[in-house]
Amino acid sequence: MIHEILPVGLLHCNCSILGDPETREALVLDPGDEVDRILAVLSRHRLAVRAIVSTHAHIDHVGGLSKLQQATGAPVLMHGDDLDLYRHLDVQAAWIGMRTPEPAHVDQLLREGDTVCWGRYAANVLHTPGHTPGSVSLFLPEHAGEVTRAPAAPILFAGDTLFAGSIGRTDLWGGSLERILQSIHQKLLVLPDATVVYPGHGAATTIGNERASNEFVGARHARG
Ligand SMILES: [Zn+2]
Ligand SMILES: [Zn+2]
Repeated sequence: MIHEILPVGLLHCNCSILGDPETREALVLDPGDEVDRILAVLSRHRLAVRAIVSTHAHIDHVGGLSKLQQATGAPVLMHGDDLDLYRHLDVQAAWIGMRTPEPAHVDQLLREGDTVCWGRYAANVLHTPGHTPGSVSLFLPEHAGEVTRAPAAPILFAGDTLFAGSIGRTDLWGGSLERILQSIHQKLLVLPDATVVYPGHGAATTIGNERASNEFVGARHARG
């Protein structure tokens, strides 16, 4: 699978471009900004965008949706519980002192258990509220690797729910520490240890690493 990660915008949101090298279909995750760079990567790999997904509606993850949608004609998908947040892009833009981006048309509302498909790949939608009410994570189970190689490890796109050694902040609108810990324990830490985790910001990690050493994840136990 083609996988390019571009940290975009002021807050370095990890935008992932996932492509099928055979069908040339792609999924773009969290195009927060710098759409021209994203389009350049798509064109370098000769990829056609099948869907655009935002893990949640914070401006650093949705700022480029409209421009990318206009450039590619691809549908935009996000969870319905983040639509309120998405409708208040102007307020969010004021928080970080940027211009309000034009809103995209949200074509499909994601729900727990949905499948997002591109080429020969299919990722499962996990509703993981807590950082925002409509935060989702995408889980791509073990999938075909390169032709001569063994199957590739499962992949989790965790948005701002789980980070290497940390968890998402819960002090912004709609955030809840209790819900994010519940999401992480019930939906993410139950995934295979070998699952490679790509968070919304910063370095990649694995589920095994986070289960073993993430102090925030253990916080609930520590507090009894
Ligand atoms: Zn966020
Ligand atoms: Zn973020």
